[in-house]
Amino acid sequence: MRLKDQVAIVTGGSRGIGRGVVKAFAAEGAKVAFIYKGNQPAADSLAAEVAQTGGVAKAFQCDVANHDEAFKVVEAIEAEWGSIQILVNNAGVIRDGLFVAMKPEEWDVVVQTNLGGTFNFCHALAMKLARQRKGRIINISSVAATNSNPGQTNYAASKGAINSFTRALAVELAGRGVTVNAIAPGFIETDMSENVRNKAGDLIKKMIPLKRLGQPEDIAKVAVFLASPDAGYITGQILTVDGGLSLGAVAM
Ligand code: NDP
Repeated sequence: MRLKDQVAIVTGGSRGIGRGVVKAFAAEGAKVAFIYKGNQPAADSLAAEVAQTGGVAKAFQCDVANHDEAFKVVEAIEAEWGSIQILVNNAGVIRDGLFVAMKPEEWDVVVQTNLGGTFNFCHALAMKLARQRKGRIINISSVAATNSNPGQTNYAASKGAINSFTRALAVELAGRGVTVNAIAPGFIETDMSENVRNKAGDLIKKMIPLKRLGQPEDIAKVAVFLASPDAGYITGQILTVDGGLSLGAVAM
């Protein structure tokens, strides 16, 4: 059990990649507080699923884009389980569309959720982690930060900023025993990627040297590693987990 007696927060934990991270952390002995925005049935089913396997996970409703809500939910989690050691900023949204037709609301919601949510939870926890001189922050970025796709200016901007933020915060917190890293997934089979998979699933598989789409578990295993003592000497890094997609190889 690599995360025994640790308390973790996973934002956007009710579905997709976050759900995989919650299950993997709980299986490694962590108490996992996961944040969802609106899909309570998904959140409830995850808490029940984890309890059935003997793990501990509890759902907390919060809009990560809201600074006050982030601070309040962190207080509520501490009241329940005491000090927190691990934060995974995973909650994210897409509003794809060509830039010339992009509505300001589509820009705002993507930047405020993906980047703003990461800021809000780091802001709520960084001082606490620094004071206890122990902590792990893992931000979920995307290969879209560096590999550009049409229709994703808002999303790419949010994820590129998360990469820069990760490196800059890592430098500030390193002296306090807190590591800050990011994972950049490729195509992972979740609700978020459903539209793209339906339109171009076969083409995407051809672009991936390992010849399959990623699963939430592929990302969750890397998150467990980064949260564990084994990753104690890694900080400020963006780990790409994409089956080789970003190598840009031509399909054979
Ligand atoms: P999903 O759409 O499957 O799940 C999103 C999760 O985020 C849900 O739990 C959702 O809660 C939560 N969420 C969304 N907005 C908010 C908010 N404002 N406040 C709180 N929670 C919120 O997404 P994925 O699992 O696919 O993506 C997870 C992360 O991975 C994202 O940051 C995404 O950008 C990144 N990523 C995904 C890739 C992919 O191919 N899927 C590729 C690269 C990166 P609720 O259930 O209540 O709606």
